[in-house]
Amino acid sequence: MTKKTISPIPSDAVVSAKGAARARSGHLWIYRSDVTQKPQAESGSVVRVVDHRGRFIARAHYGKESEITLRIVSKDDVEITRDFWLARLRAGARWRERVVSDADAYRLVHAEGDLLPGLIIDRYGDCFALQTLTRGMDSLKAMWAELLVEEFHPRLIVERNDAKVRQLEGLPMTNSLLYSAVGQTGGAMTSQAADEENKDKLPVYPTVAGDLFITENGIRFQIDLFEGQKTGAFLDQRENRAAAMRYARGRGLDCFSFQGSFALHMAKGCERVTAVDVSEPAIEGARRNAELNNVTNIEFVAANAFDLLRDFDDADERFDTIVLDPPAFAKNRGAVEAALRGYKEINLRALRLLNPGGVLITCSCSYHVGEELFLDMLAEAARDAGRAVQIVEKRAQSRDHPILLTVPETYYLKCIVARVMD
Ligand code: SAH
Repeated sequence: MTKKTISPIPSDAVVSAKGAARARSGHLWIYRSDVTQKPQAESGSVVRVVDHRGRFIARAHYGKESEITLRIVSKDDVEITRDFWLARLRAGARWRERVVSDADAYRLVHAEGDLLPGLIIDRYGDCFALQTLTRGMDSLKAMWAELLVEEFHPRLIVERNDAKVRQLEGLPMTNSLLYSAVGQTGGAMTSQAADEENKDKLPVYPTVAGDLFITENGIRFQIDLFEGQKTGAFLDQRENRAAAMRYARGRGLDCFSFQGSFALHMAKGCERVTAVDVSEPAIEGARRNAELNNVTNIEFVAANAFDLLRDFDDADERFDTIVLDPPAFAKNRGAVEAALRGYKEINLRALRLLNPGGVLITCSCSYHVGEELFLDMLAEAARDAGRAVQIVEKRAQSRDHPILLTVPETYYLKCIVARVMD
């Protein structure tokens, strides 16, 4: 049998055998080092990807500035049209209709997890926050805003493109209002510029920041679409917060609380809860959220959780339910060891602080600390704390943040529910 070779055309991207194998295994990324012939195409456009024999592999977004030079958008050799994208958006929306029933804020599109590399769309009631993290998706920003308007009739669409990863794609950091149903539309405006302009005229910015409320598991939260962390809230923990509510009893402790979202869930089952965050503005937000819900059994502390856990331990304080939801300690592979030390310290303290039968809900959103490493760390912490600990549940990010089996990077959030036996 002769192997057929077709000469690639200049607009195709040709990839090495290694790149081809990776793509055929289901991963959606092809690195620069695996591109043997750059396509003659504009950065941000969709190109055909072929192997060294010219055989078709996929259609992909080309980002010539990025180490991840190609991001596969389709395994079929089809034109990538507006209708193609609309079908993906609708597929994403249909899944959320099935799995989100307890909240009006959720992730509508989770990038690679929804076969839409580089695109994040979060929904907060009738407002949407968009992140376009690659050249390809960035060039489609206006189209995504249009599709959202047609499909969902939103009040506001903002772009939260202040994510650092955009710099790796050669994209600027910018927050702007993309659409407002009350008139002010379009025009790239940085957050700072919006502040400036806002001083005397625009009614839009305070509208965004001031009166957006969402409901999650029956609890109300105020959201700041322009300034809040991520796109305004940590939506990926929604189902884990509901889990924390089910386990909550006795005295509760919510470490790394941000705006009190775990604490407010725990307050339903606990007699009292202490919520800790190092950021004063976050704790202020948490206080406001408690007032909004007429919740009075939470004590708010602006402090370093590492110090506070040690102080509680020194003072022989005891708790029945503890949540640990720190920021990603390992932002890259090189930081894993130091991160594990950090995780171990807080988990060891938390396990010591629990009464017999007490429950620890412990999370890590560091992709580089995988589930196995995280569980090994927890086992060491339990051993050093001298406690027998049961794993009650292994949880992950909420189902509106789908994990694509063949793209391990889409599984980043671990949430282990553990119970101290004695
Ligand atoms: N649990 C929150 C999200 C937490 S994000 C939720 O479900 O919404 C991580 C938080 O940890 C941030 O608010 C950050 O301000 C806080 N943080 C970072 N380092 C900290 C430290 N050393 N001590 C206490 N809080 C810290």
